[in-house]
Amino acid sequence: MINLLDFDQSAMSALFAERGERPFRAKQALRWVHRGLVDRVGAMTDLAKATRDALALDAEIRAPAVVRDSTASDGTRKWLLDVGGANAIEAVYIPEDDRGTLCISSQAGCALDCAFCSTGKQGFNRNLSVAEIIGQLWHANRALIADGVSPPWVEQGRHPITNVVMMGMGEPLANFDNVVAAMRIMLDDNAYGLSRRRVTLSTSGLVPAIDRLRDACPVALAVSLHAPNDELRDRLVPINRKYPIAELLAACVRYIERAPRDFVTFEYVMLDRINDAPGQARDLAKVVRDVPCKINLIPFNPFPNTEFRTSSRNRIVAFQRELQNAGLVATIRKTRGESIDAACGQLAGRVQDRTKRRVHKIHSLGAH
Ligand code: SAH
Ligand code: SF4
Repeated sequence: MINLLDFDQSAMSALFAERGERPFRAKQALRWVHRGLVDRVGAMTDLAKATRDALALDAEIRAPAVVRDSTASDGTRKWLLDVGGANAIEAVYIPEDDRGTLCISSQAGCALDCAFCSTGKQGFNRNLSVAEIIGQLWHANRALIADGVSPPWVEQGRHPITNVVMMGMGEPLANFDNVVAAMRIMLDDNAYGLSRRRVTLSTSGLVPAIDRLRDACPVALAVSLHAPNDELRDRLVPINRKYPIAELLAACVRYIERAPRDFVTFEYVMLDRINDAPGQARDLAKVVRDVPCKINLIPFNPFPNTEFRTSSRNRIVAFQRELQNAGLVATIRKTRGESIDAACGQLAGRVQDRTKRRVHKIHSLGAH
């Protein structure tokens, strides 16, 4: 069986061409799947019956199955989705005044092992397929529509999800091809038709892949910086040992030339007494001086067995003030969905770690 959720426009055209169908049929199919959100080939009523019957023999439309569906008091909703082999991933819907954002996962687990990340602590199992990535958006739209949710921002004939952030489980740029294909479907006018500024990819800083993304599919970019110098970042975000801050920032500047927005967002997780001192804010401001950027301060979300604590509100505000005094735009991220463990970095799912990675504790942290 093939899964039509795996096919972006060019793959769908190739599939139809292979079967001797006319090219515009591929567009129709794409529309049925992603605009019509149908879950079976038989529902594609403007395809010729013979085409439909032939396709129905070996094609299906199947998103990962829902294991759990929970809604927090603030309206944030989290789906735990089964991706087979004892792996589960999470997608989170965040309604705001003027938009509906879906935070989606790109991998089952993550290999990059950032010190403060619950997903990273579970190890890595595998990359998600295109169908598993875009299936999160397909499913969320269907579920919200089925529930009769009609948020104020939804225009006639449009879907409830207006923005996508690749900030769930996994490092999206480590699953480059599938993530790019899924994002192309998000942007495609025959599918979700989201503008490039409404799709944000967050990366821990895979420098060569940032350059590739700039050519392949430039969308809004968020970069997980989290430290003002290499010494600390090496310990918090181990990929920094391979791609240090100066190289990462240079890649950000190159990216902005093609990006749909004229700035990069730097994410900075606020870890009590680790990276949240006023002097570190001043250092950070100096380091990013030459990069057009906004800084998003994320209160650390604790999870079981973590050695980190969340910075106090006072320390976060003081840190923000230092950045603002240095002329930077700095915001503090509102924590959403806490009551259902849907907050940033808490997405744990349930992953079978086949990397058998050695568990190590970082003892040297906690200076400052
Ligand atoms: N792998 C990508 C995207 C997924 S994580 C990346 O690292 O950017 C999305 C954001 O959540 C990143 O900025 C990440 O550093 C942050 N994050 C991870 N664990 C967190 C936690 N426990 N509390 C707050 N933010 C966290
Ligand atoms: Fe992976 Fe991102 Fe978590 Fe780091 S913060 S371990 S890159 S998901």
